[in-house]
Amino acid sequence: MRTAERRAGLGQPAGALDSLFALTTQPKDVAMLQIEVESPLRAAELEAALRRQGFRPGFPPHVAPMARAVDQSAARRMKCPGCGCRMRGSKAFHKPGGYKLLAICDCGCGEEV
Ligand SMILES: [Zn+2]
Ligand SMILES: [Zn+2]
Repeated sequence: MRTAERRAGLGQPAGALDSLFALTTQPKDVAMLQIEVESPLRAAELEAALRRQGFRPGFPPHVAPMARAVDQSAARRMKCPGCGCRMRGSKAFHKPGGYKLLAICDCGCGEEV
């Protein structure tokens, strides 16, 4: 199976690969521009949205301390997509059967981990 796939790939004319490359790279550049122009999501807005969905602050009991620490350090390693600065901290939310962690940057932007 694998050899057959590789042969098919080698058999493809270079022109077809070039146009495929153009198709996959161009929309990505446009998307990146749009993200920079878009105003970053505010942590308070995200929190309000979670509360509307029934989430309450805090970790749910089923998430063990080790898992909490892992998620919190993952949040701190994230960079804010809005302003590019490091995430300062995180805030956990839960509801029955649900768990979310918000990473929050110094400027007050937020993103779900
Ligand atoms: Zn930010
Ligand atoms: Zn920031």
